[in-house]
Amino acid sequence: MPKQSDDLAQDDSLYKTLLESTKAIPWKIDWETLTFAYIGPQIEELLGWKRESWMGINDWAERMHSDDRERVVNFCVAQSQAGADHEADYRALTPEGEYIWIRDVVHVVRDSEGQVESLIGFMFDITERKKNEEELLRLQHELQELSFKDALTGVANRRMFDERLEAEWIHAQRHQQPLSLIMIDIDFFKQYNDIHGHIKGDSCLKIVAQTLNSAALRSGDFFARFGGEEFVLILPQTDIDAAVKVAERCRKLVFKQQIPHPASDVSSVLTISIGVGTHTPARNDQASAFIEAVDRRLYQSKQQGRNCIVR
Ligand code: GH3
Ligand code: MG
Ligand code: MG
Repeated sequence: MPKQSDDLAQDDSLYKTLLESTKAIPWKIDWETLTFAYIGPQIEELLGWKRESWMGINDWAERMHSDDRERVVNFCVAQSQAGADHEADYRALTPEGEYIWIRDVVHVVRDSEGQVESLIGFMFDITERKKNEEELLRLQHELQELSFKDALTGVANRRMFDERLEAEWIHAQRHQQPLSLIMIDIDFFKQYNDIHGHIKGDSCLKIVAQTLNSAALRSGDFFARFGGEEFVLILPQTDIDAAVKVAERCRKLVFKQQIPHPASDVSSVLTISIGVGTHTPARNDQASAFIEAVDRRLYQSKQQGRNCIVR
């Protein structure tokens, strides 16, 4: 049975109440004139602009963050022209100059000939969601940074070193360039802890890490805590003579700190022993074998009396 006109009027009033009491803000744009045929009264509460001030799509575009405007307007116009439903996130401007994150969900209405007649949609306030997303991203970033940082000294950790060496190894292999590695170990550090205690030992490790971190000067150089009281430097595109010079700078910088170490057999202040190696990796060479070779030189420097460099 066809509906009576007062039933239809009741339906209209029901729809209007429903539309205007939701949190989402309904709107309609006439495609030919690009003017608002309707916008929900809730817009005033959300963004602060008077309902009557929403005349055409220029008002919409102008009340958008300038960083979002071009992307969003171009996207929405292109989608509408293509007759495709779409959605877009952007920051809408308030009269106070603040921004509210909006998600606009748009449905394209066509006439009986298939021509675009109007756009209808809903604006959702997604500020809270965006804040959570941004916080999540920030935490993710922080977590990633932490996972590559040594907690005690703040320099790169062993995991970061492994990744970096692998990348530099492949690069050196591909371009047939020399790659240098400097491995450093503090002399008689066990005795240092025994005499000064573990807390002072930790402080000492921090100073040594910061000191060594400043020893390599080229932008591609990389410094990390290898573990315990051992540190390592990767020097890409560096031959053995240049690497030995950096190693010598490391040794002198630590010595210049004049950290008292009465229990050391080689000096009254803290010293380091160093192994240096350079290799231009061939196709099947392994980085792990290179680390072992340089580590053997570090061991030799201990054998040769410590506070010295073996190349
Ligand atoms: P050598 O000259 O032969 O290297 O003697 P060493 O005593 O330094 O060598 P060894 O490797 O036997 O001892 C290293 C010591 O470093 C053992 C440990 O007590 C200390 N150490 C390692 N990691 C830390 C740390 O995070 N904090 C402190 N305080 N000490 C550490
Ligand atoms: Mg050691
Ligand atoms: Mg040691």
